[in-house]
Amino acid sequence: MKGLPSETDFVVIGAGVAGLRAAIELAAAGRVLVLAKKQISKTHAESGEGGLAAVLSDEDEITLHLQDTLTAGDGLCNPAAVKILVEEGAQRIEELIAWAKHNNRNGTKLVFGPESGHSRGRVLHAQGESTGTEILRALHTKAHAQKHISIVESAFSTSLIAHDGRVTGVSLIEDKGTPQEVACSAVLLATGAMGQLYRNTTNLDAATADGVALAFHAGAEVSDMEFVQFHPTVLYLKKAPRFLLSEALRTEGAHLRNIELDRFLAKYHPLGELAPRDVVARAIVHEMEVSRAKDPFVYLDLTHLSPAKVQKRFPRIFATFMQHNIDITEDLIPVRPAAHYCIGGVRTDLDGRASVAGLYAAGEVAATGVHGANRLPSNSLLESLVYGARAGKAMRDELKPAPKRETAHKAASSNGPVDAGAEGLISQIQDLMWNDVGIVRTRVAMQKAIKSLEEMAPKLANPKTRRAHEAANLHLAGLLVARSALAREESRGAHYRVDSPAHDDKKFLKHSVIRGDRVVFL
Ligand SMILES: Cc1cc2nc3c(=O)[nH]c(=O)nc-3n(C[C@H](O)[C@H](O)[C@H](O)COP(=O)(O)OP(=O)(O)OC[C@H]3O[C@@H](n4cnc5c(N)ncnc54)[C@H](O)[C@@H]3O)c2cc1C
Repeated sequence: MKGLPSETDFVVIGAGVAGLRAAIELAAAGRVLVLAKKQISKTHAESGEGGLAAVLSDEDEITLHLQDTLTAGDGLCNPAAVKILVEEGAQRIEELIAWAKHNNRNGTKLVFGPESGHSRGRVLHAQGESTGTEILRALHTKAHAQKHISIVESAFSTSLIAHDGRVTGVSLIEDKGTPQEVACSAVLLATGAMGQLYRNTTNLDAATADGVALAFHAGAEVSDMEFVQFHPTVLYLKKAPRFLLSEALRTEGAHLRNIELDRFLAKYHPLGELAPRDVVARAIVHEMEVSRAKDPFVYLDLTHLSPAKVQKRFPRIFATFMQHNIDITEDLIPVRPAAHYCIGGVRTDLDGRASVAGLYAAGEVAATGVHGANRLPSNSLLESLVYGARAGKAMRDELKPAPKRETAHKAASSNGPVDAGAEGLISQIQDLMWNDVGIVRTRVAMQKAIKSLEEMAPKLANPKTRRAHEAANLHLAGLLVARSALAREESRGAHYRVDSPAHDDKKFLKHSVIRGDRVVFL
């Protein structure tokens, strides 16, 4: 790890799959500074138990992956973006496999598996380890080998610097709490998710919508924010982390049972346990409501499957649960849905360009239109790879000299994670969003949430600590999600309204785009 320069060619905010893949591309054209607000190991790819979708086998076809993605997207995918994803995916993975082989001569065995929503077994798993961990390892090693790439951890980006309508740098709080500015030719946002907006989430603490807030304050367009994907099956045990139980378990035959121990999904969808994520999540919410339990949940049941097969196929899940005294081959697992993936974000073109010059976005923070209104499982690691590389190429081709600027050293701030005031505000936002802008939405509840969020605004102005910045970012993202969800007066994909349960293609077969306080549909 190196120190912070005051000037560089490119700044990449985020050291996950999208940020590192872009940095590797950029290193051919100039100096690249990659910033991560936590340790680089703390990214979501490390959690990728499910895998990565790609058409690499003879039994599969690109057109089928395209069609499955469009079907999941419920009418709102950008077909050109999906075509790029499925066509360029194989090349991105083959190069990754070559980099991984170069680093690890013993090799990691890769196998294809089935997954819900995919009509062919095209989800790639690295056996014995998490797929995401293997991808990150290959990217880290490749990035570290490039002398033009510097990766700086614990550097929290607080705002973007712009001159004459162009982004020309980043303000940040470095490890010791000192504010600093870095001038550059262009900035890539690869800041990942925003799941911390919700009381229950699979996302890490770092998923606080920073990239969306940075882009919004710089005047960039943000779109599709109403589409938040909730994962249906997440461990629900007091004092245990919200550990995700991937679709792969249900694909291998796991059942869902309500607290009466009855299987219930066939009542809601002909595919039963293999129904799309949003259908399963809503069915669970309904079963939890009718149970009238004070602290409701349902069970995931693997006890009828071969214990040896379960342990072999899911070694990480098996080992993690044993730490909580749950033997998944013998015990029922209490689960609830939780916020998992943000489909919307910074609106980009097919090369990651945002609507403000000098600003790019890739990975989960970007809204390329690839996922439409609902993401097909295992498409997001692929998106981070494919669109990270494309954004890197575009930035490289549009390189401009970084502006010369005096960097002012300001008073020390705080980069510490502890700030009781901010913590309390975050907790309020999480409850509001979970209760009023969650899996099942109504006009009245969303209007109430917007009013409460607007009333909180003065408490979030002028943040002084890292946690206070995160609280302000979550507050802004909460408002953007709630306003977009209220404006979309229909149900589609991951967005479900009891008061408008059907599609309205005439008015809403369009993307929501935030313009200031307004939401327009384009
Ligand atoms: C539990 C779980 C399981 C998943 N499983 C799968 C799966 O099986 N298959 C699949 O395709 N997808 C899966 N996903 C989704 C996928 O992992 C993510 O979409 C993907 O990893 C996002 O990559 P990214 O590079 O965009 O962001 P991330 O990997 O989240 O990286 C974000 C980076 O930005 C940095 N950052 C953020 N804000 C700032 C700031 N203000 N200043 C400086 N740095 C900042 C962070 O420190 C981090 O380095 C899963 C997600 C979760 C949560």
